[in-house]
Amino acid sequence: MTSSTREHIAARLAVDLPVAVRDQAIVPFLQPQISVSTREVIGVEVLSRWTHPELGVIPPAVFIPIAEETGAIHGLGRLMLRACCRVGAFWQQRSQPLDVAVNVAPSQLATETFYAEVREELADSGIDPHRLTVEVTEATVIDDPVVTAGRLDRLRDLGVVVSIDDFGAGHSSLRRVTDLRATELKLDRKLVAEAATEKLAQAAIEFAHRRGMRTVGEGVETKEQLARLQRLGCDRAQGYLIAKPVSETRFSGWMRETVGV
Ligand code: C2E
Ligand code: CA
Ligand code: CA
Repeated sequence: MTSSTREHIAARLAVDLPVAVRDQAIVPFLQPQISVSTREVIGVEVLSRWTHPELGVIPPAVFIPIAEETGAIHGLGRLMLRACCRVGAFWQQRSQPLDVAVNVAPSQLATETFYAEVREELADSGIDPHRLTVEVTEATVIDDPVVTAGRLDRLRDLGVVVSIDDFGAGHSSLRRVTDLRATELKLDRKLVAEAATEKLAQAAIEFAHRRGMRTVGEGVETKEQLARLQRLGCDRAQGYLIAKPVSETRFSGWMRETVGV
């Protein structure tokens, strides 16, 4: 694809995104998380999916940055937050309560209305706030850790779990994780994939546990990787080995088949 074609598509997506958000054409997909020690399903992450009527499936790696640039991320984020709380409330009422996680972009955290939205969605859905996790990437916070820590405090004050996503993907710093007073550390696929990064993964998990944080290994694709996480004492695992992200309906079917609920 030439760079001008790419620009043309990006421009088209920028125009179509607000419409897709309004029409709820961007939908939540769910990917389960299991307890590494018991292998029970204990949570899900909500991931946005967009099938464009003419251009087909657009990956989040393409449309999320455009949504951030154009401001569509606020509507999109609200949609996913609402879906996440709804899913949490649904499973809370069943025999299998699940923790639910949603990704939040830096610009959402920087917007005052976001905190009111979180309060509103918690109240409307009736979900226990401790069941909701807000995932922010480490890259989000590099700009201004002090300001970000204050924003994350407001979420924690509501009882919500704050997770640092993609830890180990870039210039990760355990010091920064401490400064942010995060309650969960999510190890990036890079730290999970290779035996070569085991020492780093081990250091991160031990560090997190010393501070009372929960740990999640993501992008788990093989039994060896899951066994390694277990050896390192990682709390939770997520990845294709367990299940790929699927629609809500398919997730319910998967739960019925796998867990029997
Ligand atoms: P993320 O938050 O790190 O989400 C995990 C990504 O890894 C997802 O990609 C998921 O489909 C993929 N994944 C899960 N298990 C495996 C595995 O075993 N192997 C491999 N290779 N990949 C795996 P996805 O859905 O394409 O999303 C990409 C990124 O887009 C997300 O990364 C997140 O940063 C962002 N994103 C997605 N939905 C939203 C959203 O609603 N809001 C915001 N702000 N960002 C979102
Ligand atoms: Ca995430
Ligand atoms: Ca991640």
